[in-house]
Amino acid sequence: MTKDTNMPPGKCDLCGEEFSKTALQRHLAGHLSKKIPGGKAGESFYIRITPDIGKNTLSPYFLYIWADGDTSFEELDYFLRDIWLECCEHLSGFNKKVSQQKKQANRINFNLNMTRAELEKFWEEDELNGGEIAKDRLLKGFMKKGDEFNYCYDYGSSTDLLLTILDKLPIAADDFIMLLSRNEPPPLMCSDCRKKPAVKICTACQWDEEALFCSTCAKKHAKKCREAEWSLYSAANSPRMGVCGYEGGLIDVARDQPYKLPKKKSGTANSKEATTGAAG
Ligand SMILES: [Zn+2]
Ligand SMILES: [Zn+2]
Ligand SMILES: [Zn+2]
Ligand SMILES: [Zn+2]
Repeated sequence: MTKDTNMPPGKCDLCGEEFSKTALQRHLAGHLSKKIPGGKAGESFYIRITPDIGKNTLSPYFLYIWADGDTSFEELDYFLRDIWLECCEHLSGFNKKVSQQKKQANRINFNLNMTRAELEKFWEEDELNGGEIAKDRLLKGFMKKGDEFNYCYDYGSSTDLLLTILDKLPIAADDFIMLLSRNEPPPLMCSDCRKKPAVKICTACQWDEEALFCSTCAKKHAKKCREAEWSLYSAANSPRMGVCGYEGGLIDVARDQPYKLPKKKSGTANSKEATTGAAG
């Protein structure tokens, strides 16, 4: 068994085939490179988005997108909210990931006697050096292959994401933002019966115990949990599940669902015999 046995795969939205995360990343790059000859002149980016929880922690959640260079950070923000994050219109922000050194290098130039033009120049430099990026900026002014960006949604109960620019393409993307793939729902099971997939999470009890429930166990939990009236939320395919009032996204809703147990294969000895018997 490898340590990522529980890591869900992702389906390629361009051809429908399913892959592990690593194979998927290569596979999608192949699709994009085939689009370059004959593509419309422009600039676009192949981007991976994952929860920003440190390099050694495995998260089952990922998105792969293809974004046009003329897309603004605001549009990217809306996309992330719509697919993974929005609960009650919290604040959010993008920052380029740079070393502390680089961040400070520009900031020592700041002084109170700057003219308006100098200040504007200063803030623009700051955005390129780790400061918060104005949302009306376009991706093409800020992204290079290999760059990483931090994104924070809700500075209170925050969900932090890491955007990795896997490639920059010399063509326009087919749309402002195209979802290429995302993880299939992770195999989260009911913490009580352990037999059925979880469809609810108790956001009050999750700090003390496992609090994922199938619909039957959620009803039982509601009877004994004093907070259940306001704390039982739907399970969703998102790193924001169980945070604040999050209950699921607005786009790609078909994959934003609780885990489903795989259908039993009819290949077992008994059922095979049964089918052959019936057919004969
Ligand atoms: Zn494909
Ligand atoms: Zn909220
Ligand atoms: Zn259960
Ligand atoms: Zn509870």
